[in-house]
Amino acid sequence: MTETAFTDPFWEALADGRFVVPHCEECDEYFFLPAPSCPHCYSRSVEWDDSSGRGSLYSFTRQHATAEGFPDELVVGLVTLEEGPRVLAEFDARYEELAIGDPVVIESRAYPHQYDRDRRADEPFFVARLRNGDSRSDSDKGRQ
Ligand SMILES: [Zn+2]
Repeated sequence: MTETAFTDPFWEALADGRFVVPHCEECDEYFFLPAPSCPHCYSRSVEWDDSSGRGSLYSFTRQHATAEGFPDELVVGLVTLEEGPRVLAEFDARYEELAIGDPVVIESRAYPHQYDRDRRADEPFFVARLRNGDSRSDSDKGRQ
């Protein structure tokens, strides 16, 4: 995703541990990739809304010929967010662990990968992972 003044709030939210998606104030649709005009109705009344990051796994694959600095086996997938749009993300999971339809979540993550991200080089990107115990929040996990 290209860095522009429009996408600054996206990167700033990630640095703040939040995942935001564009929302059209005209037709009430969410979409991704971010764009300053709505792909559904072409309105330019677009705002950034907090996303839960929660969704389901639509499709996934693994890549063995990866860019320098990335793991030898890179697992990537399409996440259908609860808000509607699909987001392509690297997965913090083994390929064998995943199944289409799995509950997953996208979250802010600082990557160890060394690759050129210009002025965002030291800031978090995002990653997807399986949601374990669906309805429980992370703070509830320690209580069992
Ligand atoms: Zn719209």
